[in-house]
Amino acid sequence: MTSHIMPTYGRLPVTFERGEGVWLWDEKNNRYLDALSGIAVCNLGHAHPAIHAAICKQSRALLHTSNLYGIAKQERLAVKLAEQSGMDNVFFCNSGAEANEAAIKLARMYGHESGIDKPAIIVMEKSFHGRTLATLSATGNSKVQQGFAPLVEGFIRVPYNDVSEIKLELEQHKNIVAVLVEPIQGEGGVNIPGEDYLNQIRSLCDRHHVLMMLDEIQTGIGRTGEFLAYQHNNIIPDVCTLAKALGNGVPIGACLAHGKAAQLFTAGNHGSTFGGNPLACSAALAVLETLEHENLINSAEQKGNAICSGFTEHLRNNEHIVDIRHKGLMIGIELDKPCAELVKSALQQGLLINVTNEKTIRLLPPLIINDQEINQLVITLTTLIQDYTAHLHTTQTYESQTLYKPA
Ligand SMILES: *Cc1c(COP(=O)(O)O)cnc(C)c1O
Repeated sequence: MTSHIMPTYGRLPVTFERGEGVWLWDEKNNRYLDALSGIAVCNLGHAHPAIHAAICKQSRALLHTSNLYGIAKQERLAVKLAEQSGMDNVFFCNSGAEANEAAIKLARMYGHESGIDKPAIIVMEKSFHGRTLATLSATGNSKVQQGFAPLVEGFIRVPYNDVSEIKLELEQHKNIVAVLVEPIQGEGGVNIPGEDYLNQIRSLCDRHHVLMMLDEIQTGIGRTGEFLAYQHNNIIPDVCTLAKALGNGVPIGACLAHGKAAQLFTAGNHGSTFGGNPLACSAALAVLETLEHENLINSAEQKGNAICSGFTEHLRNNEHIVDIRHKGLMIGIELDKPCAELVKSALQQGLLINVTNEKTIRLLPPLIINDQEINQLVITLTTLIQDYTAHLHTTQTYESQTLYKPA
């Protein structure tokens, strides 16, 4: 039967029916350990009772009224986000790309208010900011842009984790209004920059009066061991975008602003029909409460350390491992060979993982993962990696089907 879904995704041959915590079950009742959390979305795991209760309760009262009226839950969520981030105000939307669109519009408006007709934003190589026209133009991956020319103009690209290039551009071009950067690149291969990278960008942005805009869509909401990754650096950006884990699976995005950036938008400048509706905001409020209640942000650091020392220990003699790196529960295991096939063989072993940038296994397990589940993750994946790399010595191509039988 031909599918009536546009083939924008190469999907794995599995369909899940239910979940609980870190676990998912398919139609045949096979169980899988989800070490990806729906791409950093279900940080509280699947079917968390607090989220379930919050959205049930809200759906009985009210789902949507639009932003033509006051929305109490939206106000409350904005207060909570401001408290926890140090930012001043929030624009709510429905996805990461939309949050970045809001950030890009803020940056342009900032430029026009200072008399810059053709504002430009510095963006990074290997970055990912979304799939809408402006955000794919900001993205540093030609595959994402292929076929969609003409791109949105006004982006200047520099290498990631290299402040000297940013400095040079800022000195040369007077029309730069912002620097947009991920605190850790997720899609680009779990690239963790130098410890004071963000601090240096903060100083450069201050010196040149441009906005520092952080895309925390993947790194935010406790993933790296702080509520937001920039909190490791004790800085406040001018703009910060969130989505993914903010609603634990209920779509919600947010663009947070601070100081001068918080004063730019006025009535009519931007909008969203669904943005910040009562249902999405009730989910996000429950997420924030649960993170605090279960002390999940502090434990993310310790759990990430446990997982990575497990891998380091078990894989120490494997010469194909280039690097094992992590911040909290954002984890990358880089191999010296392309390893996308590992995703399928892991699936057959009941483990959900991801590979980015061809050679880096990316793990984004739910923050609620426990010690036993951590053990199982480490053992299962180590075995898969050892088999895969051992096989690299004997033949050129690796056929997962012949090595692994479905569980
Ligand atoms: C996922 C992601 C986005 C895009 O979010 P969508 O909700 O898919 O639009 C943008 N930036 C980063 C860093 C992301 O990880």
